[in-house]
Amino acid sequence: MNRRKGLDRPDPQRLAALKEQVRAGTENRPGVYRMVAEDGEVLYVGKSKALRTRLLSYFRGTWPTDKGARLVGLAHEISWDYQPSEFAALRTELSLIKRLRPRSNVMGKRDARHYAFLRLTPGTAPRIQVVRGPGDGRGTFYGPFVGAQRLGEAARELADVLGLRDCTLDRRMAYDDQAELFEARDRTPGCIRYEIRRCLGPCIAACSARAYEERVAVARAFLDGVDDGPMDALRTAMLEASDAMAFERAASLRDKLARLEGLRASFARLRFAVETLTFAYPVPGHGGDDRVYLVRRGRVVDEVRGGDGLLDDEPRMRALAATLDDAPGSAGRAIPAHEVDELLLLSSWFRQQPAELARAVRPDGTRPEPLQLTA
Ligand code: SF4
Repeated sequence: MNRRKGLDRPDPQRLAALKEQVRAGTENRPGVYRMVAEDGEVLYVGKSKALRTRLLSYFRGTWPTDKGARLVGLAHEISWDYQPSEFAALRTELSLIKRLRPRSNVMGKRDARHYAFLRLTPGTAPRIQVVRGPGDGRGTFYGPFVGAQRLGEAARELADVLGLRDCTLDRRMAYDDQAELFEARDRTPGCIRYEIRRCLGPCIAACSARAYEERVAVARAFLDGVDDGPMDALRTAMLEASDAMAFERAASLRDKLARLEGLRASFARLRFAVETLTFAYPVPGHGGDDRVYLVRRGRVVDEVRGGDGLLDDEPRMRALAATLDDAPGSAGRAIPAHEVDELLLLSSWFRQQPAELARAVRPDGTRPEPLQLTA
């Protein structure tokens, strides 16, 4: 009898056939594998540096208490591809999971407890959120940061200073230049944040779309950290207010500036130095299928085959690493959503395997230091 609802005891003959297929067909070398259901749905994607051992282990668990046994019990097919190394298998596994979204894989868990990101949400009246991973992949991401709680406090402060909303995303917004929406709405203040002037109040048509977007632009530039534009604009506005003897406004702008300066230091302290993950990473491959991965800010930007002795050729390795100085995309801290998972994957890999990191060559020819997680 089934002990778990919806889970049928697997057919022993089918299991035996699958096991024999694995036993006879696989080698103990790095690879990725897929568990496929009867209807062709890919149920699970995994990787291993010893594919045969890993796959055979699925057949040793007790059904239905063991997760691996349950998984292989649902599979009608197991397919696999060999990879040159465990690192290559890890990257291929990630891209397969993102493409196939198997229901038995849990995304976003890898190293997510160590890092957090700030997300500027898409759509009307964006807000700043602290997130652990890319979620639905929409919006603009900044980071990674270390110390989610303190990051949350700094993000709240930034939203307060700039008057950005922090309410739920399903809340409807109506700018004051959207008259037809406004007429249909109650102009009662949305919440206490509007009352105490910590939100411009886009929920009650208390600001224009342009006014809100200007504040969002300041947030973007502030988080990007590539120039002092937003701070300079506030400084200019403060001086203009002072010249015009609008002292209350000048004082308010001065307070905002001081808080933003403080926040800049807070974000700098919390930011993980992702630049430390910029190097040429040589990886010996199975059967001499060596590769050099060019990693910039925690993402692989290029992959070079190295079967001709490249890995032992220090001058060529240094020359490859030096090309990373000129790689595009070095300015700013916004991270494309589709790269967040890769960044988490690489930081996890090099944090857990300092010996791998020690082989890498930085653009200046030095070796990277072990990864530090500090807040
Ligand atoms: S005032 Fe309105 S938009 Fe602002 S945080 Fe409150 S509910 Fe959200």
